[in-house]
Amino acid sequence: MRYISTRSANTAGEGRRFCEILLEGLAPDGGLYLPEKYPRLDPQAIDRLQGVFQQKGYADLAYEILSLFIDDIPPEDLRSLCLKTYTAKTFGDDLIAPVRLLEPNLYIQALSNGPTLAFKDMAMQLLGNLFEYQLARSGQKLNILGATSGDTGSAAEYAMRGKRGVRVFMTSPKDRMSVFQQAQMFSLQDENIFNIAVEGVFDDCQDIVKSVSADLAFKSKFSIGTVNSINWARLLAQVVYYFAGYFQVISKSHSDLRVGSLVSFTVPSGNFGNVCAGHVAKMMGLPIDRLVVATNENDVLDEFFKTGIYKVRNAQNTHETSSPSMDISKASNFERFVFDLLDRDSVLTNQLFAQDVVAKGYFDLSKNKQFGDLRKRFGFVSGRSTHSDRLKTIQSVYKDYQQMIDPHTADGVKVAREYQTAPQNTSQTPSPMIVLETALPIKFASTIVEALGVEPVRPSQFNGIEALPRRVLNMPADVQRIKDYIEQQCAD
Ligand SMILES: *Cc1c(COP(=O)(O)O)cnc(C)c1O
Repeated sequence: MRYISTRSANTAGEGRRFCEILLEGLAPDGGLYLPEKYPRLDPQAIDRLQGVFQQKGYADLAYEILSLFIDDIPPEDLRSLCLKTYTAKTFGDDLIAPVRLLEPNLYIQALSNGPTLAFKDMAMQLLGNLFEYQLARSGQKLNILGATSGDTGSAAEYAMRGKRGVRVFMTSPKDRMSVFQQAQMFSLQDENIFNIAVEGVFDDCQDIVKSVSADLAFKSKFSIGTVNSINWARLLAQVVYYFAGYFQVISKSHSDLRVGSLVSFTVPSGNFGNVCAGHVAKMMGLPIDRLVVATNENDVLDEFFKTGIYKVRNAQNTHETSSPSMDISKASNFERFVFDLLDRDSVLTNQLFAQDVVAKGYFDLSKNKQFGDLRKRFGFVSGRSTHSDRLKTIQSVYKDYQQMIDPHTADGVKVAREYQTAPQNTSQTPSPMIVLETALPIKFASTIVEALGVEPVRPSQFNGIEALPRRVLNMPADVQRIKDYIEQQCAD
């Protein structure tokens, strides 16, 4: 399997292999990597994967799916990396990503039982093991530099802690993360994890990462890398739980569903990484009906799926909301989907993202014929949720089912319900819907208290983490100071 960039001519045979792009973010031309074509599974192959999942479990399912995309890691090594990653101990459940019925025809799939209680663990835990394996094989070292407002940073640190060959330097805006998120990150005592609390806001942290990465001499001397959501390996790892969710609903349902029946997913979305993995699963042949993109007040994506206009927001128009992990001004993975939508026309993709978005701040596909069959060909639809929708949804789920859901998952349930109850064009009932649960309520306690007047349930392993000793360095928002600090740690 070879990988190509969304912005270069699609010449078969010229692409790069999985391990060559594993440690990279953007392709050199500024595009995103995608496989030169998606492996296509026929119904028998999907049937067989269901058997693998039911008899051997999630880790073996992950191995089967990953091996379709990775041909430069020996199969037995790839399988042990999967078995080491997806354990009940790490993910709190034998099924790893268990599905439960919430109400008739609407299921919730928990992606939020990993070490940091957010869905990013699903991919990041695998990435940690893949990085350690590849760095050892090639004798390289890697210094990951990141900026976080909460979820990404903690998922990266919990995935990389104690890994040989890797150091993590994670900047975060001082005193701006939730108390729980700070405690999660700063209580890590591992020698390869460096927390840096920057005096400033999240954008200051991001600017530091950008200017350090722009210093190519520094970047290469200290092997600076990132783990942001455009990394292809992260996206690939996420494809697996769409299969696992599908198989669980098929076997749970009391109606006459069987492999081949259609199932839909609703995905609380920000950078479009999670739902893009659903798109890949559908392209591989998993019988997905709709992919419902749920946004919060930052509705760049909802606007595109409704109008064909993709318009990035400036800082003033990017809102701070109560589902903060979806607060985005542009969706960094979206280019991957647009490339597929445009029948993989890299010239046009380049025009839209490298020119129109940069020069005009938007592009418009409303008159484009491919946009016309978007729903039919790709299943994509969308919806939007606000602070008051979020509170109401958290309240109704608690009242009716005695379950607490987090604000991001609530955005998903709100939008999913609109699609499940809207009048259909046909007389058929809508396909079963799976809402992806992307975090646990404890991470966003203040919104839960606002909605329900009670504190969220805290998983027992997190009792008392706020009182643990902290390992964090305070620093002004000064690029040179951060560079000096990295240099000093690498010398020790
Ligand atoms: C990151 C995140 C999202 C958004 O996922 P994308 O892949 O960026 O679309 C949603 N919910 C939670 C809790 C997250 O951490």
